[in-house]
Amino acid sequence: MEEACGVYAVLAADQPVANLTYFGLYSLQHRGQESAGIAVFNQGKVRLHKDMGLVSQVFDQDVLARMPGHLAVGHNRYSTTGSSRVCNAQPVVLMTRLGPFALAHNGNLVNAAELRERVDDGAAEFTSTTDSELIALAIQQAVERGLDWEPAIREAAALCRGAFSLVIGTSDALFALRDGYGIRPLVFGRLGEAADGHWVVSSETCGLDIIGASYEDDVKPGEIVRFCCGDLEPKRDHWVEASTRMCVFEMIYFARPDSRFFGESLYSYRQRIGRILAKESAVEADLVIGVPDSGIPAAIGYSQESGIAFADGLIKNRYVGRTFIQPTQAMREAGIRVKLNPLPDVLAGKRVVVIDDSIVRGTTSRKLVQALRDAGATEVHMRISSPPVTHPCFYGIDTDTQDQLIAARLTIEEITAHLKVDSLAYLSKEGMVEAAKAKSEHFCTACFDGAYPIPMDQSVSSSKLMLEPSGVAAVNRAQA
Ligand code: SF4
Repeated sequence: MEEACGVYAVLAADQPVANLTYFGLYSLQHRGQESAGIAVFNQGKVRLHKDMGLVSQVFDQDVLARMPGHLAVGHNRYSTTGSSRVCNAQPVVLMTRLGPFALAHNGNLVNAAELRERVDDGAAEFTSTTDSELIALAIQQAVERGLDWEPAIREAAALCRGAFSLVIGTSDALFALRDGYGIRPLVFGRLGEAADGHWVVSSETCGLDIIGASYEDDVKPGEIVRFCCGDLEPKRDHWVEASTRMCVFEMIYFARPDSRFFGESLYSYRQRIGRILAKESAVEADLVIGVPDSGIPAAIGYSQESGIAFADGLIKNRYVGRTFIQPTQAMREAGIRVKLNPLPDVLAGKRVVVIDDSIVRGTTSRKLVQALRDAGATEVHMRISSPPVTHPCFYGIDTDTQDQLIAARLTIEEITAHLKVDSLAYLSKEGMVEAAKAKSEHFCTACFDGAYPIPMDQSVSSSKLMLEPSGVAAVNRAQA
């Protein structure tokens, strides 16, 4: 599964906002590696630079030096709606009678077709195939009809159904907005002294840490927050009633382990799910290893609870970007291991518990098990720090269709045989939620149980729910 976008913004007069945004996007690189972009506002004008590739490939010091200003909006993209092309890179920048604005979006709309019909007034100029551009067009049209920025943004948001964490920059204000379910995260913090009135908005708290900004609060589900230059406090209001259903997979896997949710780092949360996993599915073994990076904290937690020694049994190459030249099938069969390499010195002769965050298709897990055996492991016991993934995501994560999800097709016994492991166990849904120290009804857990919190059109649901009798019927059943 792939993340779908990181958003970032800095509002700070007399600061190098483009450089600061570059570092912010750098810290959010895990959320999207296809394209990156920054729009900077300076004296009523906006300058946009975006391209395909990693943040460090898209920007260099010369580009950033040509982007002075007081407000920057940035984006890292992994495509969910719209293909991987430079025209789909963000931020989206549009002009209005009030001046330009720049929008960056994390999430996915489930009524994009309906919204496209709505904004297609004959004059609308579509330059991309993304749902994010549709949100921007809806804002532009509302402004052109005479609304000010905030009412225009509220009106456009009310037309959207799905997951959307947005940052929107104008010449004199920065807006941060989250959908009523708060599916994707969004936080804000202060840069420098409180008296400076400098503000930062980021998908995750790691984006605040990297530039020394202090965390102030989450943008709450259903909230719109307005920051103006030099304001000592932002203006906060709800644009829609909240019914919080945050994506639980953000905590298990997607977000960075040093990012903080509910007042603690995800590293601590992931250790705790490892402990719970050890209680739920103990096994006799000599060694616990984690699949780097996201499986490591859970493996440490499993080790702490079970008393089985933890070791690094797999080494990861962290520098495999989206533009990496994939080896051919023949090369793969010859044993090219691009991302993970096992350590025979550690594994030989050992009964190994291997902790991973999820199994999606099972292809990677099967290869991994074989690699561990080739490295000398005498037994391989797989433990998964999430429940079985049986349903696809429609809210901003690029998942397979349901028929490709191994846990939607096979029983745990069948998956055990398919992966050729000595034993296999998943974390229970109750354990996953218990570890979060938040109420279970505050989470979206749809990929584990099909209980989709946001209703969607049949054309959307049937695009991925291949094994359900009817996508919409399944969604309605889950919501009943
Ligand atoms: S369906 Fe799964 S990945 Fe998508 S928002 Fe819900 S919990 Fe997250």
